[in-house]
Amino acid sequence: MAKTIGKKDSRAEALREWNKILGLWRVCDKAACRKARACRGNVRACAPVNFARVPEDVQGWFGCLLLAKEDGLSFDEAMTEIEKTPAAEAFRAWHAGGSSFA
Ligand SMILES: [Zn+2]
Repeated sequence: MAKTIGKKDSRAEALREWNKILGLWRVCDKAACRKARACRGNVRACAPVNFARVPEDVQGWFGCLLLAKEDGLSFDEAMTEIEKTPAAEAFRAWHAGGSSFA
């Protein structure tokens, strides 16, 4: 089977990145994902399911980011804005949770 690299995979790649940023692997059913601290499975199938499982505050953090993007802010600007909200603290706590969750 031919390897397809490029546009076709860029969405999956982006999802994989978000999986890491949001720590979605923490709530994944697959032990391989949790072990790798990244999605090892079909990220298109994994990401939406896992996103629904993360704490509301983490979803809120992501929502803030999307809103900031709609407002035309850069990623860094968005981060600065989010820092002013309780979502930033919740997001840090989520990542600081470590492996105790699994
Ligand atoms: Zn997974």
